[in-house]
Amino acid sequence: MLLSFPSPVQTISFENKNFFLKRDDLIHPDFSGNKARKFHYFLQDDLAHIRKVVSYGSAQSNAMYSLSVLAKMKGWAFEYYADHVAAYLKENPHGNYKAALENGMMISEQGAGNREQFEDDILFIEEGGRQKEAEYGIGLLAEEIIDWQKENGIESLNIFLPSGTGTTALFLQKSLLTPYPKGTCHSVRAHSSRLTQVYTCPCVGDAAYLKKQFSMLEQDESLHPTIISLEKKHHFGKLYKENYKIWLKLQQQTGVTFDLLYDPLGWRTLLAHPQIMGKPTLYLHQGGVLGNESMIPRYERKYKTQGTVS
Ligand SMILES: *Cc1c(COP(=O)(O)O)cnc(C)c1O
Repeated sequence: MLLSFPSPVQTISFENKNFFLKRDDLIHPDFSGNKARKFHYFLQDDLAHIRKVVSYGSAQSNAMYSLSVLAKMKGWAFEYYADHVAAYLKENPHGNYKAALENGMMISEQGAGNREQFEDDILFIEEGGRQKEAEYGIGLLAEEIIDWQKENGIESLNIFLPSGTGTTALFLQKSLLTPYPKGTCHSVRAHSSRLTQVYTCPCVGDAAYLKKQFSMLEQDESLHPTIISLEKKHHFGKLYKENYKIWLKLQQQTGVTFDLLYDPLGWRTLLAHPQIMGKPTLYLHQGGVLGNESMIPRYERKYKTQGTVS
């Protein structure tokens, strides 16, 4: 499997503040970001009895595309259920949808049912990969961060990442707080990582929704990440001038391309909480850049014709 671990950490400066940037977007050209972490378990396990993977969600999701890559790598069929595929998208396939179809995805506009109704040779994946198995790959991410901290003498760290289902943030915080079971130097790891706090913001739904998502995966609230948010309500996938502006600024000031669905709200929320940057702060780049293919033309149609975005 050609995944490159550990993902690199670089230093960037944005709006006159310094950050460490963990480039999980560079893990694999097609299978990037936190979906590579979430699905790592299925990649490394043989799963010889599996013949088909089934999942559901939106017709442009990063998880859908990543599952199409996983299925292709494994030689599995891939069946995906979306409530609705827009007529425009069907007629003009692009972005994640097009790439997933090219990998052999069979898409259907109906409910997927639940995992109990499937045979043993079918692997059922929850929407966005929100499931237990994600803990394996995200645990390895936590290990990489701890090792990097040690190499660089960074004892105390804040980590920020924007959330969808909250699976990545939850398992990252949990892994950093719970000693690594297989490690040789438990106490050192446990000690240094206790000082690492994971902050996140809800991009889909509000803070209460995100909290509920955390609780579905982990009941012990002391292992939950800290939720921060902006005052104004935000609708996932909607076009906001503020989001486009900060995305352009990020590209200009850091030279890094971020995703247009999660990262703009993530950066806006992080910058609105300067107290977090009182400690070395690591931003997790979770990939998703392929999804920009569908977002950029929408933003350009809406804002570019009006001259500069300022
Ligand atoms: C899937 C995804 C997220 C959300 O991850 P969760 O684990 O569902 O919170 C954030 N950013 C990008 C780029 C993603 O693809």
